[in-house]
Amino acid sequence: MNHRSAEFVDLSKKTIALLKRKLKIPNEYTIFFTSSATECWEVIAQSLVKTKSIHIHNGAFGERWFDYTLRLRPDAQSLPFDPEKELPAGKLALNEGDIICITQNETSNGTEVRNKIIAAVRKNNPDHLFAVDATSSMAGIFLNFQSADIWFASVQKCFGLPAGLAVMACSPRAMVQMQVIGEKNHYNSLSLMKEMIDKWQTPYTPNVLGIYLLKCALKNMNKIVDVDQKITQRQKEWIRFFQGSKNLHPLIANPEVRSRTVIAVNGSARLIEVIKAVARKKGMLLGEGYGNLKKETFRVANFPAIKKKEITRLMNFLQAYR
Ligand SMILES: *Cc1c(COP(=O)(O)O)cnc(C)c1O
Repeated sequence: MNHRSAEFVDLSKKTIALLKRKLKIPNEYTIFFTSSATECWEVIAQSLVKTKSIHIHNGAFGERWFDYTLRLRPDAQSLPFDPEKELPAGKLALNEGDIICITQNETSNGTEVRNKIIAAVRKNNPDHLFAVDATSSMAGIFLNFQSADIWFASVQKCFGLPAGLAVMACSPRAMVQMQVIGEKNHYNSLSLMKEMIDKWQTPYTPNVLGIYLLKCALKNMNKIVDVDQKITQRQKEWIRFFQGSKNLHPLIANPEVRSRTVIAVNGSARLIEVIKAVARKKGMLLGEGYGNLKKETFRVANFPAIKKKEITRLMNFLQAYR
């Protein structure tokens, strides 16, 4: 499909309408197509930072976002927090910087920042823009888009689609900041992307097949609150499964901060190595541990596309090592 054709415009329009309807993204937010979440990190750094961004993170993806931003914006600031604790929203009233960046679902260690915490960050910092990486949770759990300005996710996690496409939703306030800054130096400058998406298009040839598949997936998707309920229930079952185990444990002890879409499991390096190898032989690919957690952890994706019988098969397999 030609990406300047009337057919593409129709596909783009329908996909954006479905995204808003199915995920409950406010109508006044502008949706953009990009190629990855990593690209969104750069778009934010180049087109939406006035003075500096403040990165509140507790794991490898949040840290990587900060690192990429530093290369474009050397004043970016990092505020790490303990993965076992809730993001300290109550104590956080920032008097510097103009954009706050958080990772809603930290895929590396299986933690999440709940909607109520995001709302509290917003409440205590009403003058900052607020950007949220929801790559491994969007379309898996209910997110309250109203309480932040920029949300993005690539489609290969909870959307259950092939990689090479991401979506970014921006509030009217974010669009104002984009205009005030007026940055136009890149093929993916947000101002240029806005000009194009106003015509339901992108500055460069987008992943048209990916957008088509996204439209199909969204059409078939249940209500996000029902998906959320199912994912939450499944996560509880996984946690119970590992809590009842002698050798394997949830990596994160605090139930308030445990991710519902990524279950990180901890055990001895020797056992984890064996489990990964045998699982692979049986045709099941367990998520590697991430960064410094590589040897002692594996991660189970609790994404909507995974079927009940697949979970049962994995549980039956892991039973022998519990
Ligand atoms: C997977 C992931 C990314 C990177 O996504 P790409 O599509 O590879 O750019 C970024 N952030 C989080 C939280 C992720 O889980």
